[in-house]
Amino acid sequence: MRIPEWLAELGRKRISPYPVEGFVYGAGPEKPKLLLVGEAPGETEIHNGIPFSGRAGNELMKFLERAGVSREDAYITSAVRSRPYKWREKRTRAGETVRRKYNRAPSSAEILAHAPLLDYEIEHVQSPLIVTLGNIGLKRLCGPDLKVSEAHGRLMKQPVKRLKSLESSEYEWTDKEYVIFPTFHPASIFYNRQLLELIHEDMDKLERLVQHPDLYANAAVNDETGEHKNH
Ligand code: URA
Repeated sequence: MRIPEWLAELGRKRISPYPVEGFVYGAGPEKPKLLLVGEAPGETEIHNGIPFSGRAGNELMKFLERAGVSREDAYITSAVRSRPYKWREKRTRAGETVRRKYNRAPSSAEILAHAPLLDYEIEHVQSPLIVTLGNIGLKRLCGPDLKVSEAHGRLMKQPVKRLKSLESSEYEWTDKEYVIFPTFHPASIFYNRQLLELIHEDMDKLERLVQHPDLYANAAVNDETGEHKNH
């Protein structure tokens, strides 16, 4: 599935005031096994147009393999579809100072700019399970109070946040409930190697969920923490 061109155009226009570059469409089947929600594309992705095809993507593919899911089984998207960057000076080995673009986390204004795109995907992609990767995707869909360090590996059934209207800068809860499984962003292991073990545990849980989609229907009751909703 691909979002309609008018919506992609709207996304390009809404994000144009911000320091971002490129535009990467979400990609995958209309009826995937999983809908993955990341943060924002990086340099590799804006050049080849394929979400999660760079360094973080390589890690993600290893994690998905552990959960028994292939790239073709998943619809892959993110909160922001353009690469947020910042300029920084770097000294080369030859002692020269060059300016380089570095990735950065998207701002709330950038997340808001691309909110209608993710809202459309959440509404139209028919996935039994949404997997958020990192804090940005989790907070965008489940509200700012949740943290990935606490919510990862927990199966939740609840409404998600969507933009009130195209003119609004506020979010509202959907009427529909979705089954959500938060885990860490794959790039997090580049900064904290210890997270790898937790991610592996999450992927082992995810494998069981993917193999037994009937469990999703009872996600709220099966939630080990007993916390069903957080709003
Ligand atoms: N991180 C994301 O969230 N998305 C990508 O496509 C790449 C890295």
